[in-house]
Amino acid sequence: MLTVAARTQLTLGSTTITYLPDGEVHLDPTAFFPASAPDGWAAYTPYLDDDGRLPISVGSFLIRTPEHRVLVDLGLGPVDFEIPGMGTFTGGRLLESLAEEHLRPTDIDTVVFTHLHHDHVGWTTDGSSTGLTFEHARHLVDRAEWDYWNGTAELTGPDPESVQKPLSSVIQFFAAAQYVVPGVRAIATAGHTPGHTSLLVTDPGTEQRLLILGDVMHTQAQISETHWNFRFDVDAEAGTKARIAVLENYHDERTTIAGGHFAGTVFGRFLPARLQHRWAAGSI
Ligand SMILES: [Zn+2]
Repeated sequence: MLTVAARTQLTLGSTTITYLPDGEVHLDPTAFFPASAPDGWAAYTPYLDDDGRLPISVGSFLIRTPEHRVLVDLGLGPVDFEIPGMGTFTGGRLLESLAEEHLRPTDIDTVVFTHLHHDHVGWTTDGSSTGLTFEHARHLVDRAEWDYWNGTAELTGPDPESVQKPLSSVIQFFAAAQYVVPGVRAIATAGHTPGHTSLLVTDPGTEQRLLILGDVMHTQAQISETHWNFRFDVDAEAGTKARIAVLENYHDERTTIAGGHFAGTVFGRFLPARLQHRWAAGSI
């Protein structure tokens, strides 16, 4: 049975990128990808679990450069709930995953959010207080993303009390194509949300590079089915354009793709094909 991704590490020169699991979500696939109904998943059953649901990995990417320790996104946090007709949501392992890498929360100097959906901000605070979990870290997000969620309290968005309020006095903003830290560059991929950002990781010691997708794609099936928008894409048309642009710009041999929500393994490559891109699991 296909499961969510395990802790995995990739090396680029003197930089390492590690997927740190926090939890998992199991979704009704046609409910979340309306364009796939009624039987679009027939071709992609290897990506579904035994119950016919889509397993979604949820966690963070830890980027260690010679100078910095960066976390990209903060998972679901310590939650365990089910929304009938939609799926199950379980989180809470991120700090254990970090400890397995011999790091404490105070060792993290930078937190970057690809966007502010609830499954990417869960560990902003630990739930027992309003103090930031990663208290020594700069916290960064795209300004349009921050402004979009400001004052909202939607199911899919950040919780105002445990996310926006404690971040409001410390949040910092970056612009597209700006380096968050040396070797980690923000790539604008708005659509899923208004300030959605992917991150391109490079290292002076190698030509290889890594693109952290964020939620440009939730499943490997969207590599071929680029028109399968996610139910909660804020701008579906822009989301599709961002997906196609990412496929066109990063299907080369030197780019490993990190799909943080992908089942099985989060690292792989886009394989260009005449009509459709495909997915090759593993890193180069
Ligand atoms: Zn997500």
